[in-house]
Amino acid sequence: MGDARKVVVIGAGIIGAFAAWELLEDGHDVIILDAEEPGGRQGASYGNGAWIMESSLLPVSVPGLWRQVPGYLMDPLGPFAIRWSHLPALTPWLARFLLAGSSVGKIERTAGFRHALTQGALQRYEAVAEANGLASFFRHDGHLFLYPDRATYEADGLAWGLRRRYGIEWQELEGEALHAFEPGLGAHHRFGVYIRAGANLSDPGAFIAGLVEGAARRGAVLQRGRATGFRFEGNRLRAVKTDQGDIDCGRAILTAGINARDLALQCGDRVPLEAERGYHVVVPDIEGGPRHPVMMMDGKMVFTRTQAGLRIAGQVELASLGAEPDWRRADILLKHLERAFPAMADRLEEGVIDRWMGNRPSTPDGIPCIGPSRLSPDIIYGFGHGHSGITMAPMTGRLIADLCGGGHPAIDPNPYEAERFR
Ligand SMILES: Cc1cc2nc3c(=O)[nH]c(=O)nc-3n(C[C@H](O)[C@H](O)[C@H](O)COP(=O)(O)OP(=O)(O)OC[C@H]3O[C@@H](n4cnc5c(N)ncnc54)[C@H](O)[C@@H]3O)c2cc1C
Repeated sequence: MGDARKVVVIGAGIIGAFAAWELLEDGHDVIILDAEEPGGRQGASYGNGAWIMESSLLPVSVPGLWRQVPGYLMDPLGPFAIRWSHLPALTPWLARFLLAGSSVGKIERTAGFRHALTQGALQRYEAVAEANGLASFFRHDGHLFLYPDRATYEADGLAWGLRRRYGIEWQELEGEALHAFEPGLGAHHRFGVYIRAGANLSDPGAFIAGLVEGAARRGAVLQRGRATGFRFEGNRLRAVKTDQGDIDCGRAILTAGINARDLALQCGDRVPLEAERGYHVVVPDIEGGPRHPVMMMDGKMVFTRTQAGLRIAGQVELASLGAEPDWRRADILLKHLERAFPAMADRLEEGVIDRWMGNRPSTPDGIPCIGPSRLSPDIIYGFGHGHSGITMAPMTGRLIADLCGGGHPAIDPNPYEAERFR
């Protein structure tokens, strides 16, 4: 077998960056391979809502969702869209997606597996940031969830009940109290829930670039190139094949986001991984806008104050991988911002700073794939984090390193294995 301590991490988004760091901590020789700039615009990790959200326990597919889907699809300002030409290819994933959320029991089980990955995320972030001079990337402004009224909040009881069960604490804000807390808020929202412990990154892409630089200072080798496959002897890995030539190694970590699907196929796993495309718009962070990170529960989007400006991120668009972005989805985000914070409406002429589209790498069951491939124990997966990869990255990185080290893993790895799709 090749040198087992020589590990190639394929893909330096947030998951690959944390995996690389944790592997270095355990004394491995690490090569970080990315086809593009680590933390760059190509990755989901660049343009997300930037929330470190330990309360992210609920998967997207929940009981009764199928009843809401037609309404979402008909609503021109809805949070969800399907490119109909993609529907035939998408149908098996969609069927699994709806099945995964078909009962409260399934959701409770999934929430437990998600909690194992989200718990302690902020603390882990801060420890790694401290070691790499990245502490200034955090904003500790909590997370505010906005509802039109108390009734819509109560209809979301499954999510809040699970949060209570896992010890998440919050404060309810109603009517005037909510508007005093967020003075720019319009009349549409009259109920809010504030989780004080929530935090966000001020620039996820730059944080990843910084973490990868830190890994390089610690001895990791950065290599630009696209992984195209693997060279095996029997079931043991000998090299990662790239468009720049082979890289000899004893282990590979597959953290290539949505592109992991095709590479996993070469490792014997047909993982149902779909791109849930999301969008963001960045506008000037001016008076009249949100003062806290806000999740608008009716529009299913977040408003986050970032280094570049106020980032509005959200939307789920199911489309084939190479399809052109539909920038109308980004405009919908702006319309919701205007509705929630009316004073912003007149000021948006001051300009949109950025528009972005990226691929959430999503499994149908809301649980990522972490663990060995079918063909070889030397290839470890770390992909499929869907809507929650920023939050789940530190624990995922730790688990990957534990699986490479052969010691006792920090959490039970079984729920995350790709085997569940075999
Ligand atoms: C709109 C939106 C909002 C979101 N908001 C949040 C949030 O607030 N909080 C949260 O926790 N999560 C959020 N997410 C989810 C989160 O962004 C993703 O789960 C996470 O970024 C996935 O990270 P990744 O490292 O797996 O993939 P990516 O970030 O996509 O990284 C994959 C990397 O692999 C590289 N790569 C691909 N193929 C190859 C190859 N063949 N060879 C070499 N390199 C390769 C790419 O260049 C890229 O750098 C959001 C996502 C979106 C789209």
